[in-house]
Amino acid sequence: MLDAEFFRRWMTAAAAAVDREAERLTALDSPIGDADHGTNMQRGFRAVEVTLEKEAPATPGAVLQLAGRQLISTVGGASGPLYGTLLRRTGKALGDAAEVTEEQLTDALRTGVDAVMTLGGAAPGDKTMVDALVPAVDALGASFRAASAAAEEGALATTPLQARKGRASYLGERSIGHQDPGATSSALLIAALVEAAGE
Ligand code: ADP
Ligand code: MG
Repeated sequence: MLDAEFFRRWMTAAAAAVDREAERLTALDSPIGDADHGTNMQRGFRAVEVTLEKEAPATPGAVLQLAGRQLISTVGGASGPLYGTLLRRTGKALGDAAEVTEEQLTDALRTGVDAVMTLGGAAPGDKTMVDALVPAVDALGASFRAASAAAEEGALATTPLQARKGRASYLGERSIGHQDPGATSSALLIAALVEAAGE
């Protein structure tokens, strides 16, 4: 069973990964964006860490909803509302249970990823975070490790794609040949689940 402490570890591990990889995320956002994805994510996840520390929400759902609200109010850009929606909707789907199963997390995360697709209008193959998140949710039933590998693979597979959503889509064919920064940060978020589980 996964309790609030597990979800706090997930967010803390995600914040650490974003910190470690901030420069790389910004570098990826340079040729096909505006070179701010690393700093956006860093600002957001630092705020998440501080708020979770201060408010210590008691349930998995409350942890993710609070984290999502923080991301919406601090990240900005396209990715802030999208990541915020992902965590808020996932948290809402978890309800107010004190502990949830891995299966419940999988179902909730699917609800969250669906909300991201509705909000941003992106489908798999559009070269966005969705390309890492959808395969991750599909593999999550197997294990956290499988989900992390699928997200990483999905992020790598964005390189040959032409962007159809977000800032990178303005480049048309020139977006081809670059890995999507948001898919890359999504892979970090999913990899942080493995760390939280201590696997
Ligand atoms: P901005 O593009 O506003 O500068 P960021 O640089 O923080 O925001 O985030 C860019 C990332 O957001 C992209 O790499 C992509 O993965 C994701 N993104 C942008 N638009 C969409 C969308 N409509 N749906 C899903 N993801 C999107
Ligand atoms: Mg950007």
